[in-house]
Amino acid sequence: QQNERDSLFIVLNYAKDYYKEILKNHDDGRSIGLSYFKERGFTDKTIDKFELGYSLDEWNAFSEIALKNAYSEDLLEKAGLLIKKDDKKYDRFRGRVIFPIHNVTGKVIAFGARTLKKDGKPKYLNSPETEVYHKSKILYGLFQAKQAIRQMDNCYLVEGYTDVISLHQSDIENVVASSGTSLTDDQIRLINRWTENITVLFDGDTAGLKAALRGVDMILEAGLNVRIVVFPAGEDPDSYSRKLGTSEFKKYLKENTRDLITFKAGLFAEEAVKDPLKKAESIKEIVGSIAKIPDPVKRAVYIKETSSLLGIDESVLLTELNKLLITGR
Ligand code: ATP
Ligand code: MN
Ligand code: MN
Ligand code: MN
Repeated sequence: QQNERDSLFIVLNYAKDYYKEILKNHDDGRSIGLSYFKERGFTDKTIDKFELGYSLDEWNAFSEIALKNAYSEDLLEKAGLLIKKDDKKYDRFRGRVIFPIHNVTGKVIAFGARTLKKDGKPKYLNSPETEVYHKSKILYGLFQAKQAIRQMDNCYLVEGYTDVISLHQSDIENVVASSGTSLTDDQIRLINRWTENITVLFDGDTAGLKAALRGVDMILEAGLNVRIVVFPAGEDPDSYSRKLGTSEFKKYLKENTRDLITFKAGLFAEEAVKDPLKKAESIKEIVGSIAKIPDPVKRAVYIKETSSLLGIDESVLLTELNKLLITGR
């Protein structure tokens, strides 16, 4: 319903402006929220660019003002800003720094909110699915990134809000985040409107690199080119870019960007040397990824490449590949 969607956009925009205002001009906003962002190294320019904010640590600070301004309880609830439970009503976001989530055209459709408590749970609290927010179809930072993605003809994919923001501060603007959920087909198609090239920047802490790599296969399936950069254990793009500084970080990206298939092949080749019995398993794993690539010319290139990396006859790989192509993927 068009009217309801418009009302949601309006109240979400109002909430965004409110959280921004608190961050900049309220005593608690400044001493708690703003100083948190400053400690993380975010500049005023960055804070403005991403429209960051702060929600006061009170049960109804936001909804009281919103209701006074004639926004209805019903609308606040539908926007995911107010929670009604039994006979209680309270603000969803309390005592958290706020990351507005924009759609491609720059309208605020949801919020991510980080706790400032040491072991606060959940670390990030997000808006629920609403009439205007379908998280599987949204990429954080795309609004701020789309021009740079087209210009660079590449999109960096990271895990979190802060990774997106820190990369901008390191002068890298072609970056989006899937925000915790695993990447969906809709999100890949969205990136594909601006480029065919994705470079995945995993957190160094990502449990089971191989499992994560399998998740990336669906990007191959969509016909895009996938590159990958792995960070040292315990580092994510945010922490590592701040550790190295802009120019060293850019250099790190440049020197550590690997094509996904050849990266995989290298990884499995290492293992196969240690344990020859694993070789067959490795072949299946890599050829499995290659089979997902829709373009036969690209498949042929990768078969050649893998053959030389693993020291296995091309014909063996081709037999395996054709088996997979015929039986379906
Ligand atoms: P920070 O640097 O602020 O500690 P991060 O961005 O590095 O956070 P990760 O723990 O690496 O956070 O998680 C990556 C992303 O996953 C987050 O940015 C957030 O979007 C999402 N996420 C993390 N924890 C939760 C949670 N408890 N609920 C929902 N989403 C979450
Ligand atoms: Mn992580
Ligand atoms: Mn992280
Ligand atoms: Mn982090």
